[in-house]
Amino acid sequence: MRVGIIGAGQLGQMLGIAARDLGIECRFLDPSIEPPAAAYGDVIQRPFDDADALADIAASCDVITYEFENVPVAALQPIADKLPVYPPTEALRQAQDRLNEKRLFRQLGIPLAGIQTVDSREDLDSAASALGLPMVLKTRRLGYDGKGQYVIRNAADKDAAWQALGGQPLIAEQFVPFDFEVSSIGVRAANGETRIYPLSHNVHRDGILHTSCSPVDAPGLGDLAADYVNRLLQHLDYVGVLALELFVAGDQLLANEFAPRVHNSGHWTIEGAETSQFENHLRAVTGMPLGSTAGRGHAGMLNLIGAIPEAARSLEHGVLHDYGKSPRPGRKLGHITIVADSEAERDARLDIINQIVTQSTPDTGITP
Ligand code: AMP
Repeated sequence: MRVGIIGAGQLGQMLGIAARDLGIECRFLDPSIEPPAAAYGDVIQRPFDDADALADIAASCDVITYEFENVPVAALQPIADKLPVYPPTEALRQAQDRLNEKRLFRQLGIPLAGIQTVDSREDLDSAASALGLPMVLKTRRLGYDGKGQYVIRNAADKDAAWQALGGQPLIAEQFVPFDFEVSSIGVRAANGETRIYPLSHNVHRDGILHTSCSPVDAPGLGDLAADYVNRLLQHLDYVGVLALELFVAGDQLLANEFAPRVHNSGHWTIEGAETSQFENHLRAVTGMPLGSTAGRGHAGMLNLIGAIPEAARSLEHGVLHDYGKSPRPGRKLGHITIVADSEAERDARLDIINQIVTQSTPDTGITP
């Protein structure tokens, strides 16, 4: 069995590691020189929408999958007519445009904050009147890690927000004064079987995921989130792993976005679940039986952004995953996973690691 993977970044790398352990061969398509996944399979070094390269990977693989959601759907469609492309291109199409994504949530009865489309400066005024302030202005396409967003707190911010983002399709969204953020990660096999991981509690810093902890001690939330994920999986006739990010505000659970791929908030599953999200994604797309998504104790994950301090290489508790990327401010270079017997022990270990990582002076001189 050979799996073609569009994208060879850190998610491709972790898929490659899981594939190796399952005896599955990988081929990647990625324009970067020496991308993180290169050690785990041949890389066709061409743009993601290169028709010849896509035809090449399609001809040499049994199934195609992808590690990021901005793969051009139009480029992928011709190969999707020839061999299975999982998750289905319809999931990509929906996830690539925030407006489609939010409409899909609404259609499936998944609660979300109020939204308005914004295509002009006048629309921005109407959205502010309809939704109230604060609100968040977001690009419909290509936003990630908080990029392509502007929080409009008062009327005076509207011009600056328009200057920053105007001229492209936008949506305005009610600002959710959330208590915390969670994600629910599920996997569906081609035969319709689904499994859902325990909920993750996610903390972002500067728009980038900082920590994820699972399980979450909030009875009922996990079941509700799992129900929403199942609705998406069934509706999209999905195959593979899907992550749904949600806000918890009082007794409300509001969907923010979904990713049709393995997700940063599920990295804890490598050590913290019976079967990692990477293994289960590969199991799903290759037609193998799904593995258990049960957690193993209390797991935590901390992202290493901009630099990997030396101290992260000799932790008493914690497994370092170094993606082998060259350091750059704001770049995800690796993560540390911990698993403990209790929530208190997990949190104490994560606190220590957080302090070590934050206080260490990295070789690069860049503060993580
Ligand atoms: P996104 O790119 O939509 O996932 O947004 C990145 C982060 O910005 C989220 O994880 C939240 O922390 C924050 N955020 C996004 N949308 C909202 C909102 N409507 N209200 C409050 N915070 C938000």
